[in-house]
Amino acid sequence: MSLGEFELIKRYFAPLAEASSDASVALGVGDDCAILNCPEGQQLVVSIDSLVEGTHFLPDTPADQLASRLFGAAVSDLAAMGATPAWITLALSLPEASESWLEAFSTRLATLCQQYQISLIGGDTTRGPLSLTAQVHGFVPVGKALKRAGAQVGDLICVSGKLGDSRGGLEGLLNGFPEAEGTEYLNQRFFAPTPRIELGQVLRDIATAAIDVSDGLLSDLAHILKASSTGQQTLGARLQVEALPLSTELVSNFGEEKARQWALTGGEDFELCFTLPAEQLPQLPNLPEPIAVIGKITDDADIRLFDRGQACELGGAGYDHFKTHS
Ligand code: ADP
Ligand code: MG
Repeated sequence: MSLGEFELIKRYFAPLAEASSDASVALGVGDDCAILNCPEGQQLVVSIDSLVEGTHFLPDTPADQLASRLFGAAVSDLAAMGATPAWITLALSLPEASESWLEAFSTRLATLCQQYQISLIGGDTTRGPLSLTAQVHGFVPVGKALKRAGAQVGDLICVSGKLGDSRGGLEGLLNGFPEAEGTEYLNQRFFAPTPRIELGQVLRDIATAAIDVSDGLLSDLAHILKASSTGQQTLGARLQVEALPLSTELVSNFGEEKARQWALTGGEDFELCFTLPAEQLPQLPNLPEPIAVIGKITDDADIRLFDRGQACELGGAGYDHFKTHS
C-alpha cells in the first residue's frame, strides 16, 4: 500500500472514533483493544456482517454505496433485536490504499455513525481482495431483546415499510429500469437500506417475535416459524399476498406480479417482520414506521399464500422449497 496501514487508519478512521464523545467508550481506537462500559441493567447484543466483492457486490461499486450497505445490513440486525446501537468495529481487506476510495468510504461511514449514534471503536486493516466486515454492538434492557422465537398460533404477521424495493433496485442496476420515474428511490432502497431502529425499540414491548428481512420474506418468516415451533407444536403461516406493502415506484417499473414475487423472495429490504397477538393491534401506540398486517401464524407447518381468499402459488414456481421444516 502506498499509504502505510497506520497512516491510513490515522487519516481515515481514527478521526471518526475521535468525533464521538461516547461515555461508554473508556478507550477507543489506537491501543490493542478498546475498553468499553456496558450500562447497568442492559445486555450487550452483537452481530457481524461481511460484504465480499464478487459475492455480495459487483466490482467497481462506489465506496460510499458500500459503506451504506455494510452499515445498513449490520445495524439492521440490532433493530431486529430491539437494541439501541452503541459501537461498531470494522475489518477491511483492501487491494490497494486508494485515497479517493478511503475518503468516500470513511466520509459516508462517519455520517451514518453520527446519524445512528454509533461509535467506531476499532478494527483491522489488511491488504487483500476487497472485503468489508462490520461488527455492531448494541444495548437492550436485560431480558427484553426481541427474538425469532416467541410467535404463537393466531398471532398476526406484520412487516414495516415496503417490500421488494431492494430487489427492484438490483434489477435496475443489472438490466436497467423500464421507467425513468422512481429509479432514484429504488436505487437508494438497494444501496442505502434504513435500519428500523426506533421501530424495533417500540416493538420490544409489543411483538412476540421479530426478524429483519435480509434473505427474503418467505425465508425470513420461515426462520421465525422454526425458532418459535416447539416439540409439541410446529408452526406455519397464512399470508395474504394482496396485503403485501408495495411501493408505487416498484409496481410502476416492474408490474404488480413481479413486485409481489420480489416482496416475497427478494431479500435485503431490511424491513422488520414481526408477530403480535391480534388483540394488541387496536391498541398499538403511534409507530415510527408504517406497518402492514400480512397474515397469521397457524398450526399447519407450512407457509400458505392466499390472494383475496383464494389459495395461490408464487409466480407459478410453487413454494415447496420455502417449507418451514424441510
Ligand atoms: P493490532 O495489530 O494490535 O491488532 P492494529 O495495528 O491492527 O492493532 O490496529 C491499531 C489500532 O487501529 C487498533 O486500535 C485497531 O482497533 C484500530 N484499527 C485498525 N483498522 C481499523 C479500521 N479500519 N477502522 C477503525 N479502527 C481500526
Ligand atoms: Mg491488526
